[in-house]
Amino acid sequence: MVIGKPLLTVEQIQKRVRELADKITKDYNGKELIAVCILNGAFMFFADLVRHIRVPLKVDFVSCSSYVKTDTTGEVKVHQDLREDIKDKHVLLVEDIADTGVTLNFLREHLMQRGPASIKICALLDKKERRIAEIPLDYAGFSIPNKYVVGYGLDYSNRFRNLPYIAIFKKST
Ligand code: 5GP
Repeated sequence: MVIGKPLLTVEQIQKRVRELADKITKDYNGKELIAVCILNGAFMFFADLVRHIRVPLKVDFVSCSSYVKTDTTGEVKVHQDLREDIKDKHVLLVEDIADTGVTLNFLREHLMQRGPASIKICALLDKKERRIAEIPLDYAGFSIPNKYVVGYGLDYSNRFRNLPYIAIFKKST
């Protein structure tokens, strides 16, 4: 297994996370927010992001996994649902990466049924080329090429999540 040199360095990530948090702070001025971390991949991004958001907020966590069945469909299984009641609340879904978009599309629909005042999506990485389901990415950190990346919460077989930077992962041959 080979981890290449950083695609995104610690400094680049931290700068962008603060920019996203500043934009979110501005947009939600005067409102209370429920920030939802999509486990497991978003845990590091989420922790960094919320500590820079300057509006009152609650945090909650959802855990799910997606299985792409065909080129145009996918299925998502929810392992752990929200504990907060989101009715009439402003919800910000925080994800590590928008890849096919299947997970975010499903979660958005799933949570919409509970009558929130609004749902917005914040993803650190955007792999546009792979998109199957159209999703509104209200806040996106970086556009990245169609490569498998690890680090800063993102894994390969649950490893490499602790890297403070993001790198392209290659299986050694
Ligand atoms: P979706 O395809 O539903 O947009 O993304 C589902 C999940 O696949 C993401 O939340 C993320 O956990 C995982 N994923 C997608 N692309 C990558 C990648 O390049 N690296 C890693 N480690 N996980 C990815």
